[in-house]
Amino acid sequence: MKVFKFGGASVKDANAVKNVASILSFYKDEKLGVVISAMGKTTNAMEKIIDAYWNKSKEEFTSLIEERRRFHIEIIDELFADSSLHIYEEVNDVLDGLLEYFDREASGNYDFEYDQIVGLGEVMSTKIVSAYLSYNGMQSKWMDARKLIFTNDTFREAELDWEITTKNFRANFKPEFETVDILVTQGFVGSNNGATTTLGREGSDFTAGIIAYCCDAEDVTIWKDVPGMLNADPKWFDNTVKLNQISFREAIELSYYGASVIHPKTIKPLQNKEIPLHVKSFIDPHEDGTVIQSSMSKDHLVPSFIFKMNQILFSFTPKDFSFIVEKNLSDIFDRLSKANAKINLMQNSALNFSILLDEDKVNTEEILDLFGDHYYVKFNEGLELVTIRHYDQATLDRVTVDKDLVLQQKTRETARLIVKQRIDI
Ligand code: ASP
Ligand code: MG
Repeated sequence: MKVFKFGGASVKDANAVKNVASILSFYKDEKLGVVISAMGKTTNAMEKIIDAYWNKSKEEFTSLIEERRRFHIEIIDELFADSSLHIYEEVNDVLDGLLEYFDREASGNYDFEYDQIVGLGEVMSTKIVSAYLSYNGMQSKWMDARKLIFTNDTFREAELDWEITTKNFRANFKPEFETVDILVTQGFVGSNNGATTTLGREGSDFTAGIIAYCCDAEDVTIWKDVPGMLNADPKWFDNTVKLNQISFREAIELSYYGASVIHPKTIKPLQNKEIPLHVKSFIDPHEDGTVIQSSMSKDHLVPSFIFKMNQILFSFTPKDFSFIVEKNLSDIFDRLSKANAKINLMQNSALNFSILLDEDKVNTEEILDLFGDHYYVKFNEGLELVTIRHYDQATLDRVTVDKDLVLQQKTRETARLIVKQRIDI
């Protein structure tokens, strides 16, 4: 059995859905567990519906739901020749149920209400795809992820109950493959005591990992609109190279340093059972893509670059002439945790301690306030943090062209550079 995940972009309109069906048809001798996200930008649209619900604006709530109805019905119109098909009714039922939701007694818990509504995007997309597969004579069955994936009640960031979920998949999912080849289910959602929960935004990749882990799948493929994992974000870098093969460890390292590849949450269960993870293009489905697996033998072949822009470097110097030793460090961390600071890099010397933060997540005034009594605080804005895995002199030179080097840290495999654009005067 294989697990496939198709994100919102891969089912954004009727042609995209047809493309998904054609990809699945290449694998007709396989058993496929297929995870699908909400269509196109539906999750963002559902978030607006939730806000309208929460703010009690009935007119907006209704009009946003009707907009989602038009969006989905248009796709159905294009996919199916016969307007008497059941799928119209199924999608209309979901949206009519949502319309009625407005008058329910509210729980007063935003996160709870959010989870009851947002995942309906996935419910609709999976119903449409599953109906379309059957319409084309492919043996498939729609499965309700809320009956399989059990979580705690931390709405919007629910944590998995691995034991019960594994039992559910073994008893109620895998055996279905005795009669059908394709099981279609929703990414992102689970349940707690009958209430819907979600696994956090972009949670569908994690769903694919969960299913693969619970069913001991042969492999997982995440189908994307890029050819695979690249060695840098093309937004910041020309001549990117595709990574053909990397290890689980390397993928986790890269995402730790800020690469928006695959979340470690998705990778961990797969690493645990050594289930390979493919990232492939739904535009060129026959191309190889990237495979993430256990072997570390190919990790060193291509240097990878991770850029974090708009960084601010703070440095703290104790006013009492003391050195930066353990006692000061614990005091500094105490104050930083009060400021809720997420540290991207840190460095100490005898007399001062420096930390790098995202500019848009920090309140400079608050930091000055929190530290001012005991420390001289200096800061430097407009910096970039560049992390290079498997660096050499050429790659170091490449990222420092026209830049001033503010600070650098190197280990054997990783170089981290804080640089500032040079302003010529
Ligand atoms: N539809 C959800 C989101 O957009 C989950 C996912 O696509 O991974 O965040
Ligand atoms: Mg997505």
